[in-house]
Amino acid sequence: LSQLFRPLDLLGMVYRTIRQGVIDMGAMFDLIDTAPEVVDAPDAPALAVRDAHVRFEGVAFGYDAGMPILKGIDLDVPAGTTCAVVGPSGAGKSTLARLLYRFYDVDQGRITIDGQDIARVRQDTLRAAIGIVPQDTVLFNDTIGYNIAYGREGASEAEVAAAARGAAIAGFIERQPEGYRTRVGERGLKLSGGEKQRVAIARTLLKDPPLLILDEATSALDSRTEGEIMETLAAIERGRTTIVIAHRLSTIVHADQIVVLEAGRVVERGAHAELLARDGLYASMWARQAAESEEAEEAPVAVA
Ligand code: ADP
Ligand code: MG
Repeated sequence: LSQLFRPLDLLGMVYRTIRQGVIDMGAMFDLIDTAPEVVDAPDAPALAVRDAHVRFEGVAFGYDAGMPILKGIDLDVPAGTTCAVVGPSGAGKSTLARLLYRFYDVDQGRITIDGQDIARVRQDTLRAAIGIVPQDTVLFNDTIGYNIAYGREGASEAEVAAAARGAAIAGFIERQPEGYRTRVGERGLKLSGGEKQRVAIARTLLKDPPLLILDEATSALDSRTEGEIMETLAAIERGRTTIVIAHRLSTIVHADQIVVLEAGRVVERGAHAELLARDGLYASMWARQAAESEEAEEAPVAVA
């Protein structure tokens, strides 16, 4: 009988997720492939956020039994600070973000926000407190205004325009003949990676969450776009507790703390200068990226 109900549970979850305005994380969380394993206790209280102090305490997790992915993670992200998570591909960075959003429950240890175990509070209240700017933003085949307004049910046109200004995409939208009513997506205006990310940032500004997860795009943006997006991100990080999964180390030099993950363990942590001085994994990743960007600058420019 319980098997009979599972497809319905999944549909229910997808529907609720869409209503909560988090479907844009599909790319990050492989939503449709994710079984709805996480269940609230019937009497689970709402998460009460004071200033969004995040802690991971001895967190262990694996997707499959006997295949541990995260192995005893301790993290302390004080309220309003930025913690960058870096490390080789497959180290467990995105998994860490998925656990904070409670797409899965941890196997051991706990994750707390302002002292409350996130596994014991209502998941809708947890997710309402977290904004995510994913690697790849999925846009709806609808207007660009709708795609931004999606960040918060019932947002007014003025609020949408203010969020677009905050994400530095208002000028681009207003230059379109149909403005905020311009259709985007498969049958409409094609947006670049940088423009899509700005739409995600505008949505997040509308949502105005105390806690932010940024999953930096792996694909290189051109350096001007990258610089502009970094400025915009710095503006939305201000006053929020932020966890940023970074691929380009140049973007996280000023993070309050940098955590280096390797094969599911924290192998180094500290500020940028401290980690360079340690001359370990972080320092070697930094040296490699510096060499790559020099190469890119010296490479002959392709003629379009
Ligand atoms: P990172 O973001 O650091 O590149 P991930 O957290 O995405 O790493 O993945 C860590 C490990 O977990 C990888 O070995 C990956 O193959 C595995 N993994 C990721 N997602 C799943 C999943 N849904 N089911 C099983 N294994 C997974
Ligand atoms: Mg990842």
